[in-house]
Amino acid sequence: MEKIILITGGNRGIGRAISLELAKKDYFICINYRNDENSAIEVINEIHLNGGTGSLIKADISKEEDIIKLFKEIDKIDGKLVGLINNAGVLEAQSDLANMSLERIKKTFDTNVFGTFACSKEAINRMSINQNGLGGSIINISSGASKSGSPNQYIDYASSKGAIDTFTIGLAKEVASVGIRVNAIRPGFIKTEIHKTPNRLDDVKKLIPMQRIGEPIEIAKAVVWLISEEASYTSGALIDIAGGK
Ligand code: NDP
Repeated sequence: MEKIILITGGNRGIGRAISLELAKKDYFICINYRNDENSAIEVINEIHLNGGTGSLIKADISKEEDIIKLFKEIDKIDGKLVGLINNAGVLEAQSDLANMSLERIKKTFDTNVFGTFACSKEAINRMSINQNGLGGSIINISSGASKSGSPNQYIDYASSKGAIDTFTIGLAKEVASVGIRVNAIRPGFIKTEIHKTPNRLDDVKKLIPMQRIGEPIEIAKAVVWLISEEASYTSGALIDIAGGK
């Protein structure tokens, strides 16, 4: 019987690195993606080439009906869900709040917050030891932006990640007794395509004590630890991985 881990947005950027690293640990990797099928196929091919197991599931986690279908697909696999990595996230263009549409703010929250809540709900109902589950681990990819607030840039995104920090603290307490650990990682600036503003990463480098941008693998390594038995007493933690920032 497979031990299944779902990674939302597991096809690109940080999610891609998480999918590839967890696949090395003998989990069955469910890679969720929204649009970019080519990158999803590339990741699953690499996993299979290296002897790992997994599958692709297309779903837009900002839509409840898609989330229901996503978990129904997982239910068809001969195995048990033991992990959920809430990684999928969106970041809109830089703007101050005065010029931000409510539509954009809602769009950001639909994926970053409500999608995370809804996926976690479905996962808990499968992992809980009170519901024939094996227990498990939920890891939320928050952001250092939850501490800075990102004024004049993306206060909507930063606030959505603030919600995720609070969600992590509360949910960890709620589900500890049913065998589920809940933690968050707060990455600093990581080299991915989420940064669309030209030269953004070059510009922020000097603000980082380590004077460099992080790599997706540096987040994935922490996920591998958090999900493992080595982190068996860690729950409700918010772990900053941000080059000292
Ligand atoms: P990318 O833009 O590189 O990748 C985003 C991923 O999320 C893609 O796989 C995308 O799928 C998926 N996605 C977005 N919206 C949805 C949705 N509604 N449903 C399903 N999948 C969706 O971003 P990163 O890898 O940089 O970011 C990953 C996480 O890390 C995010 O939560 C982000 O907020 C967080 N983070 C990133 C930092 C950074 O500097 N990179 C810093 C701090 C936090 P598809 O390709 O199909 O569109």
